[in-house]
Amino acid sequence: MKNSKRWGRRVLSALTAAAVLAATPVGAAGNGKSKGKPPASSHRYIEVQLLGINDFHGQLNVTRKVGGREVGRADYLAAYLKQREAENKNTLLVHAGDAVGASPPVSALLQDEPTIEVLNKLGFDVGTLGNHEFDEGVAEMLRLIHGGYHPATGDFAGADFPYVSANVVDAQTGKPILPPYVIKRVNGMPIGFIGVTLTETPTIVTPSGVAGVKFIDEATAINKAVRELKKKGVQTIIVLAHNPGVSNPDGTNASGEIVDIAKTIDDEVDVIFAGHNHAYLNAVVDGKLLVQSYSYGTAFSDVDLKIDPRTKDVVAKKAEIVTTYHDGITPDPEIRTLIEKYEAKVAPLVNQVIGTAAETITDEQNESGESALGNLIADAQRAAMKTDFAFMNPGGIRADIEQGEVTWGELYNVQPFNNQLVKMTLTGAQIRQLLNQQWQPTQTRMLQISGLRYTWSASKPVGEKVIDIQLPDGTPLKPDAEYTVTVNSFLADGGDGFTVLTQGTNREVGPVDLDALVSYIRGLEQPFSARIEGRINRLP
Ligand SMILES: [Zn+2]
Repeated sequence: MKNSKRWGRRVLSALTAAAVLAATPVGAAGNGKSKGKPPASSHRYIEVQLLGINDFHGQLNVTRKVGGREVGRADYLAAYLKQREAENKNTLLVHAGDAVGASPPVSALLQDEPTIEVLNKLGFDVGTLGNHEFDEGVAEMLRLIHGGYHPATGDFAGADFPYVSANVVDAQTGKPILPPYVIKRVNGMPIGFIGVTLTETPTIVTPSGVAGVKFIDEATAINKAVRELKKKGVQTIIVLAHNPGVSNPDGTNASGEIVDIAKTIDDEVDVIFAGHNHAYLNAVVDGKLLVQSYSYGTAFSDVDLKIDPRTKDVVAKKAEIVTTYHDGITPDPEIRTLIEKYEAKVAPLVNQVIGTAAETITDEQNESGESALGNLIADAQRAAMKTDFAFMNPGGIRADIEQGEVTWGELYNVQPFNNQLVKMTLTGAQIRQLLNQQWQPTQTRMLQISGLRYTWSASKPVGEKVIDIQLPDGTPLKPDAEYTVTVNSFLADGGDGFTVLTQGTNREVGPVDLDALVSYIRGLEQPFSARIEGRINRLP
């Protein structure tokens, strides 16, 4: 499978087994009365179980594979969560952001309301904001949480559970737009949950998505909330942080932003649920237990706490990252019914006709490296962002457009990755370098292009293959001049070895690539066509 997604499949398949960290005693597990004995028997402590997910991205009906076995889907995740809940009545369900956004049609076409509905049904207790919660702006994010009306879906009741966010503040007032923390009582024990979202969010979300809010330093925001919680007598404190981190299966080599944060925040914090980079994390850093369980419901974090009822503090904690293998468990019937209801509801939208193709448009490249479908997609991206040029990675084109009526669902199959478009500025010299990066030692990947044409020589060495680059009017590209360029977020991060794109300046994030293609085709004269036009020319 060609990998066009920023995070994911590679990371997912790298680690398949669930790993268990040894119980980590913290604080004064032994007190005067139990001197000389093993840690006091567990019946004296209150055992609390926290089940967490991160980066679910509304993957209600998407099956993935880990080590050749099927994983994922909300009905299987639900079955696992309910199984674990049955083992401990003191269970809370939490999520660390990106529950919605970049989601499949079953959720995306209904404003991600189905995903919130599933979390409601599962009895989630608290969540926080990821960057993707901002994809459609603050107002729509708050509507999903608090409920309200959307023209596409009507009235929606919202989330049954609170969202906490300590570091996303109103740009005018400086006050958090959601409660910074919430206190849950479990068997008489108060447990504080604080939420934070990575401060880089404004650079990875479309500007309109974060209009009106600011992201303040995570550690500062957490410490302020911890002070308030401590004043209220809360000693067990959990942070839900949409910040990246990763570790080895045995907990060694923990690294990433969340590790740095863990080292700087108040030691009263006991556990941090991380997210964003869709990785495995199960490590103790600075006395804090850090977990992350990949993404897409392919796994969840099971954190077991022992709380001393006298100090109300955590005396032992451990975590397991559990993969949601389909074999060996029956999917939850209630959630399955809900998924089927939403699948039926989106069917008319998926089958909606967007346009009519005059002929079949394929991603088959000619010997120069150009394809008709590549041209169409690159044109759509350039039009959406109004730039001089657009470049599209060929691995991101997953199906052809067949002659005849073209449905939304067919276009989704062409561009299923939910990559957002990114506008940036590059010099002519950088664009030449970009084109030369198509030829790499192990692989050649011909970018599909819009707004320019060029020749390349098969006989020139790698790094010097590109010869003439021309603008549509035939004038040559100037090495020193600046040009605006559209690529998808995968390429913008240097994906497929196109590292020069990480140097682009004036970056601005736009719509999802599929939306750009849909609206571009809608705007074409029907029936529409796309052809190889000689944008790329190979010389001997
Ligand atoms: Zn994220």
